Amino acid sequence: MRRFRYEVLPCRVEFGAGSLAGIGEFVTAGGWRRGLVLSTPEQRADAERIAGLLGNLAVGIYAGARMHVPMEIAREARELAGRLGADLVVAVGGGSTTGLAKAIALEMDIAIAAIPTTYAGSEMTPIWGITEDGVKTTGRSSRVLPRLVVYDPELTLSLPPGISGTSGMNSIAHAVEALYAENANPITSLMSEEAIRALARALPEVVRDPVNLAARSDALYGAWLSGTALGTVGMALHHKLCHVLGGSFGLPHAETHTIVLPHAAAYNREAAPDSMRRVAGALGGTDAPHALFDLAGRLGAPRALRALGLAEVALEHVAELATQNPYYNPAPVTRDGIRVLLDRAWCGLPPL
Ligand code: NAD
Repeated sequence: MRRFRYEVLPCRVEFGAGSLAGIGEFVTAGGWRRGLVLSTPEQRADAERIAGLLGNLAVGIYAGARMHVPMEIAREARELAGRLGADLVVAVGGGSTTGLAKAIALEMDIAIAAIPTTYAGSEMTPIWGITEDGVKTTGRSSRVLPRLVVYDPELTLSLPPGISGTSGMNSIAHAVEALYAENANPITSLMSEEAIRALARALPEVVRDPVNLAARSDALYGAWLSGTALGTVGMALHHKLCHVLGGSFGLPHAETHTIVLPHAAAYNREAAPDSMRRVAGALGGTDAPHALFDLAGRLGAPRALRALGLAEVALEHVAELATQNPYYNPAPVTRDGIRVLLDRAWCGLPPL
């Protein structure tokens, strides 16, 4: 076994159906007294319910979270948190709401409690992102790592089947890249393999029967594990491509991950054979890229970038941006190689 480093990120996790009922007790145990509850406008009812459970521990609700954390929203929410004297932000929702909580904690002396309702995994990472003038800036800081995370699968029952499938594939993408990360380690790899196994088993059932609590619990468990992997080790080509497609071309986050993943895996197949064997095994297949493509198909998820409205002429620019700023990837990143990958992903062809 080669030498490795494993950094444990400090966070209390409460997992299981009905665990939300204990939120007041968990917040009190953390020593917090004044919680500001955050959500998107669509999830205001969840925020109100949580404020109700918190009782005197809630000092307000801000239901203005939006995708990619616009700077003006972050400023407005920080101002409210300051005015209310909040010592905790309680984020209920997906990566967009957790992202807003992080933008607040980055600048203020305030802790985060996250109550995830998608499979994005942001609640387990010290990674933040803020968008200003159309440019998304990201970074890592221990300040933004949630101190309390409550995974209650009952809150995910309302996540529509289509979003559940792509959000789950987004989660699998974290685990796949964690397996071949530059700083991969045996612990994160175990978590990643188990994450893929749990998500691949649960997601088809979640899409077929969105209120199946057992399947929802398995999927959320997988999302927790792969979120932990994302927060612990570095990512590679797949995440770079999705960052370019989302950041510079405005493509939707989870769908883009779903489409690109089988092709990025094929790109790295020969350079990371052990990782790919583990991915394939966890998916119950023999070839990881094809098993990922088939899973996306079974989930009824989009498999072609052109279906997301990306123009074919943009592919050359995507390839150029994706090969800028050298970064770690198991297989060497070449413009020609990326172009072939993108052509297939654009058309919706199976991975090479
Ligand atoms: P999202 O948070 O944007 O949610 C999508 C929509 O679904 C929202 O309207 C939301 O209110 C709604 N929704 C969420 N849960 C629901 C539920 N259970 N029932 C009904 N509706 C529900 O989507 P996402 O995919 O979770 O997050 C994407 C964002 O997170 C991106 O901006 C991405 O960059 C970021 N992200 C960050 C990290 C990180 O580590 N910093 C990790 C993953 C994703």
